[in-house]
Amino acid sequence: MELAGRLDRLGTETAFAVSQAAAQWAAQGHQVYPFHLGDIDLPTPQNIVEAMDKAIADGLTGYCPAAGIPLLREALADDIGAKRGMTIGPDQVTVHPGGKPVINRFIQALMDPADEVLYPNPGYPIYESQIEYFGGVARPYRYIPTDDGFAIDLGQLESMIGPKTKAIIFNDLQNPMGAESTEAERRAIAELALRHNLWVLSDEAYFEMRYSGSSHSIAALPGMAERTVILYTFSKKFAMTGWRLGCAVAPRKVSEAFAKLNINDESCTAHFVQRAGVEAIRGDQSGPRAILAELEARRDATAELLNSMAGISVAKPNATFYLFPDVTGAMAVKGIKELPDFATEALHATGVSFCTRLHFGRPQPGEDRSHARFAYSGLPVADIQEGLGRLK
Ligand code: PLP
Repeated sequence: MELAGRLDRLGTETAFAVSQAAAQWAAQGHQVYPFHLGDIDLPTPQNIVEAMDKAIADGLTGYCPAAGIPLLREALADDIGAKRGMTIGPDQVTVHPGGKPVINRFIQALMDPADEVLYPNPGYPIYESQIEYFGGVARPYRYIPTDDGFAIDLGQLESMIGPKTKAIIFNDLQNPMGAESTEAERRAIAELALRHNLWVLSDEAYFEMRYSGSSHSIAALPGMAERTVILYTFSKKFAMTGWRLGCAVAPRKVSEAFAKLNINDESCTAHFVQRAGVEAIRGDQSGPRAILAELEARRDATAELLNSMAGISVAKPNATFYLFPDVTGAMAVKGIKELPDFATEALHATGVSFCTRLHFGRPQPGEDRSHARFAYSGLPVADIQEGLGRLK
């Protein structure tokens, strides 16, 4: 018996393979310092946990509306709108089990087979996987290193747009690079989307994971709300990765389509989890503030140690919880040619586990430097110092 042919086109989050290697190494009795997963080891704030407990005690354990409960849709519309300077109606919000399903909804609802979708590379691997799984053509656009980070190669991006291009996926505050767009870059992408009549998925998973300055949404630019879907998630800000709660903000007809897809898929996101989401947004904000302060201390420790190593240099992004150092020099120091060998050598010699650039899409022509991604959300400062001290 054969499996469906389309499964050949389904990708995966290869970072999970790194987790497996790290777990195996730990099972053999070695100390492991986990810099590989974008998960958070901090607990979800207590007021959110209590709101869920109360919701269960109150019997909110049955099915609920596929688009999300009105209380949460209203809270999200107000909060997301206020933080982006937009007016958003609750009927533009659909609730999903995490931010990741919004990528699936965007592709399923807005892309036909053979349509082309432009997506960031390096970038979150699920974009390419979903585009190809649903029969689209995944076309990666690239970034170029700048003095303080990375910038989208706008010339290349524009040159990729043709008659079959349907959408651009844009991840400002970017995983894995921690890259952040300037206002000019956001405007340039919006201008391309308007000129070529493209949908935009604005992946804003890290919009509020910011240590200084303020985030801006491409959806708030003139003419963009009608063609943009915002991906929002509770995972990072409230340390709720395992709760599975997120939402899409979209034009009304798109929201209706997303809700219909929800009916066909998960029916609804757990009611009691949604009630906890209302508390997360409307309740006491000291929890997420403390999470951010802790992550900032971890970022500083990680950046300081990485930059003190021979052959490694890294910019310190103002947002996300990733550092994406250029490790070409360090590999040369160790006489290692391939990134996977470098990561394995680091794990086995020091217990430090991290993803490399290769986990975020195939390297692009002309890319001649090697990078690794250090996620500092999963271990305390003392462990960061100990692990990176060994790596050094
Ligand atoms: N988008 C980006 C860029 C991410 O890094 C992640 C998670 O790491 C997600 C979306 C999805 O997060 P979740 O499904 O936990 O909300």
